[in-house]
Amino acid sequence: MNCPDCTHDRTRVIDTEARTGGTAVRRRRECRCCSFRFTTYERPAWDSLQVKKRDGALEPFDRAKLRAGIERAVEKRDVTDTTVTSLIDQVEATLQERETRLVSSNRIGELVSAQLREVDVVAYIRFVSVYKAFSDPEAFRRELDAVLDGTSGVDEGQSPQPTTETDNYHSDTTNP
Ligand SMILES: [Zn+2]
Repeated sequence: MNCPDCTHDRTRVIDTEARTGGTAVRRRRECRCCSFRFTTYERPAWDSLQVKKRDGALEPFDRAKLRAGIERAVEKRDVTDTTVTSLIDQVEATLQERETRLVSSNRIGELVSAQLREVDVVAYIRFVSVYKAFSDPEAFRRELDAVLDGTSGVDEGQSPQPTTETDNYHSDTTNP
């Protein structure tokens, strides 16, 4: 890390703080040459996070792509860009806390939909209908009913499916 003032290449970290949301680490640095102090914000290496898609293919985590999916769901709804950004930040923070650098697209879908449900129910239904790719109209109706009925139903009715997905994912990671 070079000093922004004198460009000397030896600086020392005088303070480190993980920001709330966990999407960046803030560091106070001081130049060993001229004592100039400056702050850096370091984002975690998201390019190392791999997403396992439904068909088993791996691709690097792509924040822009995630955002595009959410924006489609909130289209013409009363949801601000700031809300979308903070939602993505929260999802990223959750992913960052995981020990593994591999996550299923299904798990990301769950994280997003859990957040979206608090923000806008219509956006939530739109999002869920895409990411779960309901092959069975009955399953979609149950999801819809659960939302319209309030909070009951979704947790009991829908959690067995994601759990199975998670188990598959774990067994996959143990195999090279
Ligand atoms: Zn300096």
